[in-house]
Amino acid sequence: MNPGDADRFVEAAAAYVHIPFCSAVCPYCDFAVVAGQDHVAPRYVGAVCAEVQAADPWRPLEAIFFGGGTPSNVDPALLGRIVEALVARHGITNGAELSLEANPEDFSIERASQLRQIGFNRVSFGAQSFDDTVLASLGRRHLAADIEDSVLAARKAGFDNVSVDLIYGTPGETDQSWGQSLRRAVTVAPDHISCYALTVERGTPLGRAVSAGAEAPDSDVQANRYETADRILTSNGFDRYEVSNWSKPGWECRYNLTVWAQGEFEAYGNGAHGFREGRRYRNVRRIDAYIQRVESGASPRAGHDTVTGWEAELDRLFVGLRRTVGVAEGPGTETFLASAEGKTLVDAGVLGVGDGRIRVTRPLLTDAVHRSLLALDGPIVKVDSDA
Ligand code: SF4
Repeated sequence: MNPGDADRFVEAAAAYVHIPFCSAVCPYCDFAVVAGQDHVAPRYVGAVCAEVQAADPWRPLEAIFFGGGTPSNVDPALLGRIVEALVARHGITNGAELSLEANPEDFSIERASQLRQIGFNRVSFGAQSFDDTVLASLGRRHLAADIEDSVLAARKAGFDNVSVDLIYGTPGETDQSWGQSLRRAVTVAPDHISCYALTVERGTPLGRAVSAGAEAPDSDVQANRYETADRILTSNGFDRYEVSNWSKPGWECRYNLTVWAQGEFEAYGNGAHGFREGRRYRNVRRIDAYIQRVESGASPRAGHDTVTGWEAELDRLFVGLRRTVGVAEGPGTETFLASAEGKTLVDAGVLGVGDGRIRVTRPLLTDAVHRSLLALDGPIVKVDSDA
């Protein structure tokens, strides 16, 4: 992807919709999700539609992303109500991307066809691994064969944009099983593949197990697995366009491109985070609190940060340097490259400078670059909170 194509998403308008319902909560999951509460879905969807209708009118949306949770678990007719509300409130551009996350254990061709009829044209499967032993230790409820069946069902129903998410570095996973997962992922012929390191979040069952002595993911092993992923995916026609995301050329996720270009995206639902008109905001995390607030006519916002001036420039670098194309030079890159941390990163070959841009050339060290950015001296950051 060329820099101009990536940077144009700063002008895009997108929307994220959080659907928190899962059939069970995976032991490593730290998202705002619930299990066993599917009966609440109609009421929750009513609240999301009300939040959409109460939003300030905006320009047409170029990308809509239903994440979760497991949006594919919810009755498609309910998801369709939210899509209708978004289109009625903001409009939608011709050929907009309508994406949803799905789990392989329950993705049938009938479900896929219903979702296509509503207008979804991209599906992202939480595949995680093609090794059934690893899937079991992640607490997943599908087998590798279900992933293959799901991708096939999506294709048959007319989804021409399919993504597969993988997790690497699960204790018990071997170099060989990770390599096989990647090769099987390539064989099901998705257009897009994301690979994330397993992380141990405090407060999750995995976090408690590791605190009690269970084996934790090894960061050196994970670094090797990342490099294996990059090698196998790149040699099979996938380009890495962001730290953890690879796609066939032209199949990059437009919702994510908007986020990383510092474009604007509205967010709806419990725990959802958005960015519009210089504010990064977040909704209350608990589903019951979210529904109660919206139904009583109150704002579901838990807080917001004003992002202007130096803060906005730092934010542009922070999100933009995740991309392979990096960011165009500006006041922030000048300050960064003049700093001791910036010079060290350039000398170490972690940051590349050229063609009026700076890029992270060693993606495994993106977190270190982010830490250096946060250490930069700049004007005092103004943070507002309304909760
Ligand atoms: S299916 Fe996804 S969102 Fe749901 S609990 Fe598992 S990891 Fe979390």
